[in-house]
Order: sequence, then structure tokens, then C-alpha cells
Amino acid sequence: MNSLYISKDQFSDILNLSNGVFSPLKHFVSEKDFKNILLKKKIKKKYFPIPIFFGIKKKIFNKIKNEKNIKLYYKKNLIAVVKINLIYKINKKIFGKKIFGKKFRQHSYYKKFNKENYAFLDFTYKKIFKKKLVDKNFVSPTQFKKKIKTKKTLAGFHTRNVPHEAHQWIHRYLLKKYSNLLIQPLLGQYKKNEYLDKIIKITNLVAAKMYNKKNTFFIPFFSYPRYGGPLEAALHAIVRKNYGCTHFWVGRDHAGFKKFFHKYESQNYCKKIQKRIGINIIAHNEPYYCSTCKAVVNKNCNKKSCSGKKISISGTKIRRYIRSNKKIPNFLMSKKISILLNKKSII
Ligand SMILES: [Zn+2]
Repeated sequence: MNSLYISKDQFSDILNLSNGVFSPLKHFVSEKDFKNILLKKKIKKKYFPIPIFFGIKKKIFNKIKNEKNIKLYYKKNLIAVVKINLIYKINKKIFGKKIFGKKFRQHSYYKKFNKENYAFLDFTYKKIFKKKLVDKNFVSPTQFKKKIKTKKTLAGFHTRNVPHEAHQWIHRYLLKKYSNLLIQPLLGQYKKNEYLDKIIKITNLVAAKMYNKKNTFFIPFFSYPRYGGPLEAALHAIVRKNYGCTHFWVGRDHAGFKKFFHKYESQNYCKKIQKRIGINIIAHNEPYYCSTCKAVVNKNCNKKSCSGKKISISGTKIRRYIRSNKKIPNFLMSKKISILLNKKSII
């Protein structure tokens, strides 16, 4: 039996699929599912925005094309024995167009997708070693829902950033309005210029502990960015619904990539399909710092006395401070968080 060494991304997909994080999708897509999701945004009769696929390179394809069963390894661990149902190919241009839009050829994740996926595997597990699948920080939707019992309202917050003052404004807003908050940072990114996973984890945990501990929850979401804009934002909403959230904050340019999508495309799309997903979408303007009022606000200051000098609070700005070894001003980021950052925090 041939062995296949899976990537970190594939490992996280297996973890999420087999634990109900991506429910109603429970397995990597078959050829039929792949097409249905791209063309109809459906899996069986339910809404699903992005195909979660198991792609293989040409070299691997040649190695396993005649196999019936294969062993899947992650690092040194055997995690599953699977029966191959079908090795299939899809029209990748349709994938590009449906996920990224007309300009898909210029999108770097499309280029990566095109290069890395010669064919796709549809398989069934013969054996899955669940204990080998579990990261010590992973919490499944079932475990989490059991822990929190039923909450009337729970707002989900997704991030792949170190929390700055605008994020914390959102946290406090969500807590006040919906009583319960789940902060769930995505861990598993590797793009240059972004923070290390361990930094994202610890700083979001520190932020979570700054609020009411009874109502604020923190769990990592092990995955990777697909830079799929509106459709990926919808996938993030599905994940939070599975974790028991009744509401989900969709940020400006959520899951965006450079200026590929329109600033409000993710928010508008998620609002439109919120009923199909079964979660309420919260979409507002990005908060900013008003230097006259000396406070973070998300609407224009209505006070007559305020000249309203807006200072944007952005991750880019903060990283510039870090790189030049300058102290991050407290109005941009809480000292409890900025104290944990230095040049080595960024890839
Ligand atoms: Zn003001």
C-alpha cells in the first residue's frame, strides 16, 4: 500500500471535516459535490460556498493512480487508511471564475491552486486515528456547545490578526449587544509580513481575558486563508454557526486579498445569504480613533464640538511601528498586547 504525506493545510481540513467544523460538509468533496458547490453553492440541499477538496500533484497522481487503498501520514504519524473512490479532474478555470471572479488569473491563490492540484481525490476512510488528529488546543463544535450550554445569543469574531484597539472596540460592542462573545483566530497562515501563529494565539487570548470571563470564550480555528473574499467569509460564518454562534461579525474586506474584492463585498454577500446559512450577520463600518474625542468610534462623531480628526487604526500601521522598533501608541493598541510584540513576532 502506498503512503501519502499530507500538508498542514490538508491536515487542518481533515480535522475540521471530521469534527463537524465545516458541517454540512463532512468529507472532502467528490467530483459531483465539487461541481454542485461551484455552480449551485449547494451540498445536497444545503448552502455551501467553497469546495473543500483534497488535491494532489502530478507526481503523486502517477504514484497512486492504480492504488485502491492508501495510507495518509501527517509528519510522522499515520492518521488514516483510506479507500480511493475516484481520482478526478475539474475545469480549473471554472473554479477560478466562480471563487475569485473575472480577474481570477491575477489572484495568487488561484495561481497556487492551479500549480498544486493536478487531480483530486475522492476517498472514504477505512480507518481514522482520531487521537492522532487532535491538536491540544483544538476544541470541536460538540465539545464547545456542551461547555457553554445554550446561550440565547453568542456573537462570533474571526481574525487573523493581533488585536488592536479597533478590534477591541468590536469585541466590547459585541459583548454589550449580544452578551456572549467567541473570539476565534485563524491559525495556520504562513504569508510573509503576517504574525506568527503563536503570537496571534497569545495576544487574542490576552484580549479575551480583559473582558468578562464568564461571557467571553476563546478557541483557535485551525485552517488557512483561501483569500476567497465573500465566499470565504460565508464559510467563516458557517463555521461559527457550527460552534453555536447566533451572530457573526463580518469585517470590511473580510477574507480579502490586496484590492481584489470591493471593500463591502463580503459584508453585502453574507447579509444576502444569512438566512440560508442560519446565522445573523453583523456588518458595520470599521471603527477609528477620533483624536478630538480621544476615543475609538465607528460612526462620525455627532458632537458639535468635535472637529472629528479621524485616525485609522490598521494592522499595517502597527507593523510599521514594530519593524522600526518604535513604541506602539496606546490609542492604537492596548499596552497589555503591544508589550508582547517585537520584530520576531512577524514572519
Ligand atoms: Zn470626535
